[in-house]
Amino acid sequence: MKPGVLPRLLYADERGTIFDHPELCMAGMNGTEAVLPEGVELIPLPEGSRIFTIPDTPPLAWDQRRRSFVPVDTIRHGRKRVRVQAVSAFMAPGYVRTLLPACDYSRKKVHLPLWSYTAVGWDPERERFVVAASRVDVNDNWNPCNYDDRKLDPLVRKMLAEFPHNRLLEQLARCAVDYHCFAAKNLFFRRWEAPLPTSPTCNSRCLGCISLQPSECCPSNHERIGFVPTPEELCQLALPHLNEASDPIVSYGQGCEGDPILQAETIAEATRRMKTATSRGTVNFNSNGSFPDRVRLLCDAGMDSFRFSLNSVQEEFYNRYYRPVGYSFAQVLESVKAAKERGKFTMINYLVSPGVTDGPEEVAALLRFIDATGIDMIQLRNLSIDPDFYHTQLRVRGKGIGMYLMMEKVKKSFPRIQYGYFNRTKENFYPEGLETSWPIKL
Ligand code: SF4
Ligand code: SF4
Repeated sequence: MKPGVLPRLLYADERGTIFDHPELCMAGMNGTEAVLPEGVELIPLPEGSRIFTIPDTPPLAWDQRRRSFVPVDTIRHGRKRVRVQAVSAFMAPGYVRTLLPACDYSRKKVHLPLWSYTAVGWDPERERFVVAASRVDVNDNWNPCNYDDRKLDPLVRKMLAEFPHNRLLEQLARCAVDYHCFAAKNLFFRRWEAPLPTSPTCNSRCLGCISLQPSECCPSNHERIGFVPTPEELCQLALPHLNEASDPIVSYGQGCEGDPILQAETIAEATRRMKTATSRGTVNFNSNGSFPDRVRLLCDAGMDSFRFSLNSVQEEFYNRYYRPVGYSFAQVLESVKAAKERGKFTMINYLVSPGVTDGPEEVAALLRFIDATGIDMIQLRNLSIDPDFYHTQLRVRGKGIGMYLMMEKVKKSFPRIQYGYFNRTKENFYPEGLETSWPIKL
């Protein structure tokens, strides 16, 4: 877009049909404050993203004539005035949002489901949707166009026939076919990163856990695995993948199970066997990192990389979101250090949200955290949660310095830090050039 030209407001009528407004402009939200998107953070809506409404919630727009943000309840359509609702984008993986959708959240009537919500507008010059976001990973493997279910079904049937008694395979078939989990599909396509869910239980109680929610809250998206697979079951699926897949990674704790750290003994044994049987491929462990001694055990078993999840590097915000049971933030910090000290490629899965992640104190704490732990990579994942609920629970008000500025600051202080969104094969832990650079040119 030309400098100074603002995208138009998008809104939806009661039936969910989306329109752009001829005069009102797109606003975004950083934390609890409406802001105008900066030119640098507006990019075309990435392929594979989705647009949906925020039900019964009026959008906020920038009114150029009044030079202020205004809630938009109704809009004239011909001779009728229609009630309108706000519109949001759900970003394709690999992109981090820099602004939330601007709405009058105080009027929201429903608890929004566990999606990540991104500010979206309409560029009238180029006639396309634009979002407030930044690309942080160049890996295109996770593009939805690579996951054709017509090709998947025969592969699922074939593998189930090959290993009829493997309970883990049965679970992963459900994950691939019913939950449309891309990672699970990779196992059957025998390529890239495949998941190894192991844990029915967890010692955190995250506000936005996608695999377990109290019934009065928002429904969780997936049903957790109900058993702990044996090392045999794990190796039966992991070894052919490690040996034969292209760019193979097998990952524990890939998404919507409990936390695999609670099954550390089983995982250590399985990993030892995998590492004895093949040197090919990468074995990765995603976790809340609640027990440093178990992280050390897994390092010794031959794990290649670790990714620790955190919504915040400030203990109070961490506790309000993770609600840890029987462990403390200090133990998470110790786990991160332990993995890095043992020479493992160490990442954090930073569950980001504008207004929290770019809060001045969070940014300062993140710089200290990187310095103290020596992490290699920050995976910037859009936290999937109702933004209003998140701010209320964390007790956050006001806005941050801007997500873009936050990323710039970290990169300036630690040029070696890699931003990303996906796990890496060990051959690509320390790539030169493009993949470590940021911002990524579109
Ligand atoms: S991420 Fe979730 S859906 Fe995917 S394989 Fe793991 S448990 Fe199943
Ligand atoms: S750490 Fe993971 S499994 Fe445990 S409550 Fe949080 S999101 Fe759920």
